[in-house]
Amino acid sequence: MASKLELIPLNDWGFFHLPPRPCVIAGPCSAESEEQVMVTAEGLKAIGINVFRAGIWKPRTHPGSFEGVGTDGLRWLQRVKRELGLHVCTEVASAKHVFECIKYGVDMVWLGARTTANPFLVQEIADALRDTDIPVLVKNPVNPDLDLWIGALERLNAQGVRKLGVIHRGVSTSQKIKYRNAPQWDMAVELRTRFPELPVFADPSHMAGKREYLQELSQRAMDLGLDGLMVESHCNPACALSDAAQQLTPEGLITMLESLVVRDASTEDEKFNDTLRQLRAQIDVLDENLVFSLASRMKVSRQIGELKKKQSVAIVQPGRWDEVLERVAASAASYGLDPEAVKRIWNVIHDASVAEQDSLS
Ligand code: PEP
Ligand code: MN
Repeated sequence: MASKLELIPLNDWGFFHLPPRPCVIAGPCSAESEEQVMVTAEGLKAIGINVFRAGIWKPRTHPGSFEGVGTDGLRWLQRVKRELGLHVCTEVASAKHVFECIKYGVDMVWLGARTTANPFLVQEIADALRDTDIPVLVKNPVNPDLDLWIGALERLNAQGVRKLGVIHRGVSTSQKIKYRNAPQWDMAVELRTRFPELPVFADPSHMAGKREYLQELSQRAMDLGLDGLMVESHCNPACALSDAAQQLTPEGLITMLESLVVRDASTEDEKFNDTLRQLRAQIDVLDENLVFSLASRMKVSRQIGELKKKQSVAIVQPGRWDEVLERVAASAASYGLDPEAVKRIWNVIHDASVAEQDSLS
């Protein structure tokens, strides 16, 4: 179903000015103490950040983990706003959180990945935000469900939230990958294609799970033409009560941001180059996905090889391979691909798989 969103452009929110990209939101995963909030906010102000984030209510996987400081933290955010002049934002997961935020003058809120996945909560939050004017950012749901993400935007928009944007933080995966979340950039790209006016931020922190990957993920977000970044930053990451491994000090953050290569289109020629760069970044993402799928396939193939070896069964069973080829060719045709070309690719994959199984015996 095609839908339309009524949006106010990011430039008119009064928080960010484009260009230059990226618009940056930074701050600790969680507000932990008044001192930690103030010291971090001062460090961030000193490097030119003007939108401060901090989690006040933390959705945690396990009970007993640090679940946030609650309303006290809102008072600390008020201080950041009043004394340092930063815009402040936090995550809301219920109508009660929204009312508390409005009471304490929070400038912007976001819906976390676990909340976006729940339409009941999204509706409750949307109803609570009716008649307010604060911008709302919606993180993608934990599972790769684009429609669920769009549904959340529609619910908020229907209640009059027009300063609306999204944060792409990757999705949960059961596969073993180097990042905490699978980047699944295609979701953000698809959303931007469907809603070109929708501001799109990336959250490299939750995507990466580790500081060392923040730069490459932030660079990819810029290459894909996304508007901004939400990055976790803590005055003393080693002591953070949540997400310690992925947070940067404000100094680390500015070093990372300065290392990004960001090009913005201005002339026709640059527009061409920019579009080309974005499309190439999409190809790079798809290639990474292909390599990942090939590696996963080979892993299963190796398991089959072990099994055949144990049972002393021949490696190649022609009937089975013919079946695979026919199935893949039919599927390829349904996507508008040339089935013969796809069969040639699969024969190469099969050869590599047979060679791998051969090497086991
Ligand atoms: C967060 O931003 O601190 C957070 C909990 O992120 P997510 O909802 O993406 O897991
Ligand atoms: Mn976090």
